[in-house]
Amino acid sequence: MRDKLFIDGKWVAPVKGGHFPVINPATEEIFAHAPAGTAEDIDLAVAAARRAFDSGPWPRMSGTERARYMRAISEKILERKLDLGRLEVMDNGKPLPEAVWDMEDTAGCFAFYAGLAEELDSNSEEAVSLAEPRFSSKVVREPVGVAGAIIPWNYPLLMASWKVAPALAAGCTMVLKPSELTPLTALELAAIAEEVGLPAGVLNIVTGYGADAGQPLSEHPGVDKLAFTGSVPTGSKIMQAAARDIKNVSLELGGKSPFVVFADSDIDKAVEWIMFGIFWNQGQVCSATSRVLVEESIYPRLMERLIAETARISIGNGLDDGILLGPLVSKGQHDKVLAMIGRGLSEGAKVAHGGKRPVGLDRGYFLEPTILTDMDEDNFVWREEIFGPVVCVKPFKDEADAIRMANDSRFGLAAAVMSKDKQRCERVARAFRAGIIWINCSQPTFTEAPWGGYKQSGIGRELGKWGLSNYLEVKQITSFDSDEPWGWYIK
Ligand code: NAD
Repeated sequence: MRDKLFIDGKWVAPVKGGHFPVINPATEEIFAHAPAGTAEDIDLAVAAARRAFDSGPWPRMSGTERARYMRAISEKILERKLDLGRLEVMDNGKPLPEAVWDMEDTAGCFAFYAGLAEELDSNSEEAVSLAEPRFSSKVVREPVGVAGAIIPWNYPLLMASWKVAPALAAGCTMVLKPSELTPLTALELAAIAEEVGLPAGVLNIVTGYGADAGQPLSEHPGVDKLAFTGSVPTGSKIMQAAARDIKNVSLELGGKSPFVVFADSDIDKAVEWIMFGIFWNQGQVCSATSRVLVEESIYPRLMERLIAETARISIGNGLDDGILLGPLVSKGQHDKVLAMIGRGLSEGAKVAHGGKRPVGLDRGYFLEPTILTDMDEDNFVWREEIFGPVVCVKPFKDEADAIRMANDSRFGLAAAVMSKDKQRCERVARAFRAGIIWINCSQPTFTEAPWGGYKQSGIGRELGKWGLSNYLEVKQITSFDSDEPWGWYIK
């Protein structure tokens, strides 16, 4: 376990010397203490990142050279995927196979952006054709500078990689602030960066609370770009902090994503994808399809099957074999989700399954996978992100009705549709007002494709080449190539 921050290539105790407890959500035991960074540590980290950007080798080396470090990071993560996975389970609660999958995805993300870093050597310059023949122009893409990244707890190391990997590929330097609920694997990433010899100051990791470390990072004048993933209220604060110095900002926020199931769907497949869409990672997934709309004629049959399959989900400590649903991340999250279910019921929703702590699991932040029905469209649970294993299901009459209900949300992160009619799927996919659409599935996420939301779900896109663009400035270089005088003042 690491008890220091990683700043300027060195392990340093937080200036104020504080630590905070890290709790295993399956046992409620404190199993580690992480360093509590504050504004003083953020100052040191930003200064280190600034030096590394302004005068260090990182932004000046070729993309191919940067890619060598990134591939080495990717390989180390793969080598350590089991121990990193176990640490993630103890920190976050997710079942071990999910955590190991996260580690493979994290390694894949570094490898993917290593490839884009290499491509930058040949594609970071582009000629611009001008209507004026006396001039020539080109565009060069350059790193934005020092990036500050603030991330949530649901996919701790994977969310770090979605920001660290493209930033490093672009030639930026970074200060990363992980969630105070899940700080441990990010510190391991620092150890890996040290092991592969990443130049000092390129990646700085400051653990700590949002108000103590996140806020000073978002307000720091030495930061050129802020990349945030988390809740809408915090995203709004980050945007306000960025506004003061006109910082470049990208936001990946919450969602309340719909899943529209038409009557021609195979019931088994529909039930499996509905479950994957909301019970994976205990439903603590920004893109979780937490509002399921089912065509009236198959509603009773689908519900019967969904309830039966949900009742079979094995719940327990994510380190135990065969577990499909672990605890929620924290007591705070457990209390919040139970309170939201309570409010939904008081506003008229009914519990079709779950809704309480599982029998026999008295310790740990466990919650039964929960299916709610019979809510009105203005019910709190239909409108607000619960961020737990809670799905709301409603019947719909026809396609227009389904699209209207699906789009009636302040969020627009993801949406899914299931039908055997390919044209209908395509039509509905186009009609959804969301940034990520799944047809005949829900949740599979690929590093190559863009990730981000419409409306209050965020600004900008991560992953793919779009993720790299977040960390690149576009500079035009225009040249007057004619030997003729300009002839405006001097005739
Ligand atoms: P959160 O907003 O509470 O915290 C996110 C991060 O912000 C943490 O590191 C926290 O310490 C920090 N923070 C808190 N207050 C801050 C402040 N005033 N200034 C700066 N930083 C501050 O979110 P969470 O509970 O960790 O994560 C859950 C939320 O994240 C959900 O709403 C979920 O939908 C969203 N999420 C979105 C995506 C996506 O890609 N769109 C992915 C994962 C999670």
